[in-house]
Amino acid sequence: MDGQASPMRLLVVEDDLSIQRFLKRALTEAGYQVDAASTAKEGETVALEGIHDALIIDLGLPDLDGLDLIARCRAQGNAAPVLILSARRSVDERVRGLEQGGDDYLTKPFALPELLARLRNLLRRTTLSQSESARLQTADLQLDLLRREARRGDHLLQLTPQEFSLLEYLCRNEGRVVTRTMILDHVWRMRIDPATNVVDVHIYRLRSKVDHDTPRPLIHTIRGVGYVLRHA
Ligand code: CA
Repeated sequence: MDGQASPMRLLVVEDDLSIQRFLKRALTEAGYQVDAASTAKEGETVALEGIHDALIIDLGLPDLDGLDLIARCRAQGNAAPVLILSARRSVDERVRGLEQGGDDYLTKPFALPELLARLRNLLRRTTLSQSESARLQTADLQLDLLRREARRGDHLLQLTPQEFSLLEYLCRNEGRVVTRTMILDHVWRMRIDPATNVVDVHIYRLRSKVDHDTPRPLIHTIRGVGYVLRHA
């Protein structure tokens, strides 16, 4: 692992050169070492070096959709957290971005302090998950936070990154009821109208995987309040 002294290294993939230059300057001033790419192809090549602590990826790239770039990076084993930057504002687009391997999503135009705060958050989560206890366990459910894998008994659960994060959040709050707003804040980390059913949809999918075919369900709905993960 890198020593504390070396600055965090970021890769910015953005074809709008004025934004790219702005980010490069602002992030450098904030103490990061910054590489930049203007196309997905170039970004993929640089990301392949595997030396970046986080990737900032614009979705509207000239040669390939940013989501496909993220998918390619992930397929090549690049697990660096990804902050998606996009002008696409709809909840559906954002959810899709997060489901396809993005870790956070910022819509343009964005405020620099928010970008920096989100970046710090992403980087801290990575550092935390490397240093703190790498496992969570509840009953026969086990989460490996380094490999981002969940098992129920001997069965490996096929979870999307977002489902894993949701399950992790529920596990960390075992026995405590979490509201939709808490889940949106902690798992999606963005301001979505709490009336949206995005949480319910994800809980539904997660439950069908975690509690499928078991007499002892772990994820419970507290009607009108939220959800709780508990056994017995
Ligand atoms: Ca663009």
